[in-house]
Amino acid sequence: MRTPTTSRRQFLQATGLSVAATSLAGVRALAQPRLPGPPEKKLGFAIVGLGSLSINQILPAFAHCRHARVTALVSGDAAKAKTLATAYGVPESGLYSYDTYDRLKDNPDVDIVYVVLPNSMHPEYTVRAHTAGKHVLCEKPMANTPQECETMIAAAKAAGKKLMIGYRLRYEPYNMAMIRMAREQEFGKPKVILCEAGFSIGDPKQWRLNKQLAGGGSLMDIGIYALNAARYLSGEEPVAINALSYTTPGDVRFADGVEETINFQLRFPSGILANCVSSYGVGLNRFRVHAEKAAFQLEPALSYSDLRMQVIRGGTVELRSLPERNQFALEMDHMAECVKGNTEPRTPGEEGLKDLRAMMAIYEAAKTGKTVTLGA
Ligand code: NAD
Repeated sequence: MRTPTTSRRQFLQATGLSVAATSLAGVRALAQPRLPGPPEKKLGFAIVGLGSLSINQILPAFAHCRHARVTALVSGDAAKAKTLATAYGVPESGLYSYDTYDRLKDNPDVDIVYVVLPNSMHPEYTVRAHTAGKHVLCEKPMANTPQECETMIAAAKAAGKKLMIGYRLRYEPYNMAMIRMAREQEFGKPKVILCEAGFSIGDPKQWRLNKQLAGGGSLMDIGIYALNAARYLSGEEPVAINALSYTTPGDVRFADGVEETINFQLRFPSGILANCVSSYGVGLNRFRVHAEKAAFQLEPALSYSDLRMQVIRGGTVELRSLPERNQFALEMDHMAECVKGNTEPRTPGEEGLKDLRAMMAIYEAAKTGKTVTLGA
């Protein structure tokens, strides 16, 4: 049988702790249970529009949230809403149609309304939510025109509520790391930014290909990621824009006049130039910064998971990995924390407005074939 003294010595050896470095108090501390702090109060979200993004990404993301929970669903399809409510523990009293939407004002379990509808519906459902006294997280693009964005911002101000736009990549660790590397000039001054975002769009009947509902083509939907990335990687606002677009003649998907591919160039005040591609014709998924001493890039850059970072220096490619995080959970937690702490979201309505103004300039440059200048 071992004596207690032998046992303690063996324990210290086994754990690799040297006797000199370990006081008796330290050993006692190891024995203390480490208790978590009190649970965070989670704010309630109403999800408006139960389409692909809500079903496949947003609702499952609540399981990863520390500050957010789903407490209401708004849908035109009562049966679908009921099925999802059962799956996610939303009470019957938290189910709404578009007609009963304004009654959200009487639901104290809803703090934040997340608008996940076709683009043209964002302004109406944002303003109605603010009128009902709720904070709003609205999907990108914020709206179809800058004027609508201004109306949404004014509604938030009048209600004294937060308005955030769902730019999930601004909460995602790899994109945040790219921003730090560019801003801290880890490889010298950034000179050129290349951002490419696209996919081959399918069903010609979907709302994304309806100009009135979508506000435009690939730029409004996917190219906005390239534009937003060029802005957040440079940390500046574009002062000059060129653009060229092409849509395959006779392709039934683009019959309503939405563009297939649009390439645009941005010049920033510091002299950084960005080349961007937006497409509904081909898959594109890369953001790259060329700085004085190296280039660094994400490819894939905008997928929901499995992003990859490479630093390219001369003939060598270094891979950098970061822990994977659920982008929608990070985004919703950020919104909830801003409401709790009364702080401004990282991507407020004004951020959505800046993209809309730039997108209008991109369309104008493509239409006129002339450089459009922006800013003072
Ligand atoms: P979706 O077509 O899958 O879903 C749209 C939902 O809106 C459906 O439930 C549909 O029934 C409902 N709806 C209500 N009125 C409608 C109408 N008049 N016409 C068509 N649908 C109507 O679309 P989605 O992919 O979920 O996109 C919704 C929003 O989310 C869009 O603004 C889109 O840009 C944005 N989005 C963002 C991301 C992201 O990564 N942040 C990804 C996909 C979509």
